[in-house]
Amino acid sequence: MHIFAALRDSSGEIGKRLPRPFHPLNNLYVNILHRLSVLIQRAHSLDEVLDGVVETIAEELKSDVCSIYLLDPNDHRLHLTATYGLQKESKERVVLDLGEGLTGIVVQEMRWLAVEDASSHPGYRYFPETKEEQYSSYLGVPMALRNRPVGAIVVQTRLQRTYNETESQTLTAISTQLVGIVENARLINALDRGHEGLSYLREVRSWHLGESGLLSSPDKDKELVLRGTAASPGMAIGEAVLRGSLDTTGEAFNRPLLKPEEEKALVAQAFEETRKEIARIQYEVRRETDEEHALIFSSHLLLLNDHVLRQQIETAVEQSRPAHVAVFEALGRYCSQLEQVPDPYIQERVEDIMDVRSRLLSHLTDSKSHSSSVSDKIVVAQGISPSLVVELKAEGARGIITTRGGPTSHGALLARSMGIPAVTGVRYALAGITSGSQVFVDGSEGEVIHNPAASTLKQLEEKMQLLVVQTSTDLKFRALPGRTLDGRKVSLHANISIAADLAKATKNGAEGVGLFRTEFPFLIREDFPTQAEQARVYRKVYDYFPEGPARFRLLDLGGDKLLPGNAMRADRNPFRGYRSLRLLLDHPDVLVDQVQAFSHAAGTRPLSILIPMVSSLTELRRALDLMRNALDRVRPSGAPIAKIGAMIEVPGAVEIVDLISKEVDFLSIGSNDLIQYFLAVDRENENAASVDDPYHPAVLRAIARIVRAGHDQGRDVTVCGEIASVRPLTLALTAMGIDSLSLPPGVIPGIKRLLASSTVKPLERDLDAILQVGEASELRKELEGYLPTDVLSAPTDRGLTG
Ligand code: PEP
Ligand code: MG
Repeated sequence: MHIFAALRDSSGEIGKRLPRPFHPLNNLYVNILHRLSVLIQRAHSLDEVLDGVVETIAEELKSDVCSIYLLDPNDHRLHLTATYGLQKESKERVVLDLGEGLTGIVVQEMRWLAVEDASSHPGYRYFPETKEEQYSSYLGVPMALRNRPVGAIVVQTRLQRTYNETESQTLTAISTQLVGIVENARLINALDRGHEGLSYLREVRSWHLGESGLLSSPDKDKELVLRGTAASPGMAIGEAVLRGSLDTTGEAFNRPLLKPEEEKALVAQAFEETRKEIARIQYEVRRETDEEHALIFSSHLLLLNDHVLRQQIETAVEQSRPAHVAVFEALGRYCSQLEQVPDPYIQERVEDIMDVRSRLLSHLTDSKSHSSSVSDKIVVAQGISPSLVVELKAEGARGIITTRGGPTSHGALLARSMGIPAVTGVRYALAGITSGSQVFVDGSEGEVIHNPAASTLKQLEEKMQLLVVQTSTDLKFRALPGRTLDGRKVSLHANISIAADLAKATKNGAEGVGLFRTEFPFLIREDFPTQAEQARVYRKVYDYFPEGPARFRLLDLGGDKLLPGNAMRADRNPFRGYRSLRLLLDHPDVLVDQVQAFSHAAGTRPLSILIPMVSSLTELRRALDLMRNALDRVRPSGAPIAKIGAMIEVPGAVEIVDLISKEVDFLSIGSNDLIQYFLAVDRENENAASVDDPYHPAVLRAIARIVRAGHDQGRDVTVCGEIASVRPLTLALTAMGIDSLSLPPGVIPGIKRLLASSTVKPLERDLDAILQVGEASELRKELEGYLPTDVLSAPTDRGLTG
C-alpha cells in the first residue's frame, strides 16, 4: 500500500537522486505518526485534520512553515488548503497550475524537491500575500494516491539550510500515510456537501466492476448457485446473515418511536459504542497480525467524528425518524453517492461506510450483543475488509461471502491465514441471498449455493464429511518427517505470509520456514517499517522455529503486490519489467536495511535469505555484494554465515541456472511466477485461468533442468510455489530429487500423508519418458496413475491451495 509510494523515484535538487525511504529507528517518523493517529481520533472536519497535520509536521520537522496544497477537482489547479506559518488569509488565494512554482513542479513531476535558497531557483514563483519572502529553504514532496496526484506537502525555514535525507525521506513517508487520511477526510467532506461535493468524486479515474457469473437466475425460493472468486479455502454451511442491511421485520425495528431527545441519546450511545468497538478491533488486528494498524481505520473514525453526518441524523430524528432509520438513511445516502464512482479506492471507502453503518445499526437494533449475532453463521457483506475478517473470526462466523474483493485483497489474505472459508466477488450475493436462509460456501471452488435443495444438501454434506475425514486423517501425519514409503526424504517447510501463519505452521508439522513473504506484513499495515520494527516481525519466526530453517525473502514488490507509484508508470503491465529485485537494486538502502533486520532477528541462529526474481548474473552479483557487505557489518560474533539462495522464477534464469548455482548456496523455484512467465499468462487474470496450467510439460521440464543444475553444483533445490501441493506434481518433484518443498501450512499434513503412502521409485524410473508427453491433460493423467490408491482425491490436485 502506501509503502510502495515511498519507493517512488523521487529525484531532488540536492542530496542523492534516490532518497532512502526506510531509515533505521526513525523516531521522527514514529512521533509524527503517533501524533497524527491521536489527531484523527479527535478531528471533526477536513479543516481540523489539515490544520492539525500542518502544525504537527512543522513542529516535528522544526520548520517555520508547513503547508498542504491540494489539487482542486474543478479547476485542476493546486490550492493552498492548509498552512502553518504562512499568512492564513493566503489560504484561499494562492492557486498554482501544475508545473507552476516549486510546488507545481513537485506535483507535476511527482518528485520531491529540496532547495536551499528557494528564490534563486528558476521555477520559484512568489505570492506576496503569503509573505513567504522571509523563508529561504524549501522541501516539497508530492502526495499521490494510487497514481492519482492529490497535492503536496511543503516545509520551509527562515534560515538557509539543507534538508537532509532523513527529513526528505520522513516527509515522503508521512506523505504516503497522510494522503489516505486527507482523501478520507475530503471524501467525507464531499459527502457532507451533497451535490456540491460531487465534482470531487468525479475527479477519480474510471474503473469498472468485473462481471461475476450468475450461474442460474435469481429466484428467492429456489436453489441458487452463485459463482465468485475462491478467496479462502474450506467449506461451510449455515444460516446467512446479511451485514449492512436493515432487518425491517424485527421487533427492534418496529419499536415505538421515542421522544426526539431519547432517540438522539440512542444515536449518541451507538456512536460511542461503535468507537469503542473499533478500538477493540484495532487491538485485535494488532494482536492477530502482530502489526500496528493505527491508521487503517482512519475513515471509520473520521466518519464517527463527523459533525455534519451527526447533524443530518439528528435533524432526521427531530423530524420523527427513529434513530436506526435515521442512521440507515444518512449513511445510505453517502454510500449511494459513492457507488456511482467507478474507482477502486472509492469503492473501498463504500465498504468502510457500510461497515460503520452496520456497526451503528447493530447497537441500535440488536438486543443481543453485536458479536453473538454472527456466531456459526455465514456472513454476506459487500466487502472483505481486514477489520471485518478479524471481527468475524473473533465472533466465530463460519464463512464469508462478499460482493466485492479479489483473492489478493488484504481481507482475503487474512481470511486464508485465519482459516475462514471465503468466496469474494459474488456480485449478486446481497440481492440473491436472504437473511436467515441456508447457504453453502465453498472457498476452494469459489461457489455459493443459496437454499440448497434436499438432494443438493445431501451431496454437500457428504462432500463436507469427506473433507472432515480427510483433514483429520491427514492431521495424524503431521508429526512424521516428510518421507516416502521407499525412504526418499523431502523436507516440508511452510510459506508464511502473516504472523498468524507461524502457529499454523507448527500445528501442522512444518519442519521450518521455506518462504517468508516479507512484503505481506507491510501490505497489511500500510506502514513505513524501521529496521528495528522489521527485526521485531522477523524475530517471530525464531520463536516458532528456533533451530530454523528460516528463509526470509527480500521484499518482492511489484505485480499484484504493488500499487504503482510513479516509478511504475511506464509499465503497462506491472508484472513485467520494473519489479522485485530490480526495484530493490535501485533502492539499495531498502535492501541493506532489510538484510540487517534479518540478521538482528536471527542473532546467532541460522539465517537464510531468498533473492526473488533473479534474471541475470549482473543483478545477482550486485545483490550478493550488497547483502554480504551489509551482513558483515552487523553479524554478531559466533553467528553462522547467512545462506543466500536465488529464486528461479524467470525463464532467463532457467537458461543460466548452472551459472547462478555457482554463486549462491541454494535454489528455490517460484513456480507461481515461473508458470506465468513461461506460459505468458497473467496469474491475476481470470480469463487466462485455463492456460495457467501447472501440468504444462514445459513447466516440469524446466523444473527438472533446475534440479539437475543445482545438484550438479551440490546445491539444495526447493520448490516454494503452489505447484508443490498439487499432489501428482508433488510426486513428480519428489521423483526428480527435490530436497524440500515449501507449502501453505494447512496442506502440510496432507502432503506428508501422500509421501508416507507413496513409493517414488517407479515414477523416478519412468520420469524421462513422462517428460516427453506433449499435452498438459495427458501429463496429468500419466502422473495421477502414480498416486497411491488410499489417498482421496483433493481439490489441491487442480492446483488450489490454502
Ligand atoms: C512463486 O512465484 O512461486 C512464489 C513462491 O512467490 P510469490 O507467489 O510470492 O510470487
Ligand atoms: Mg514469485
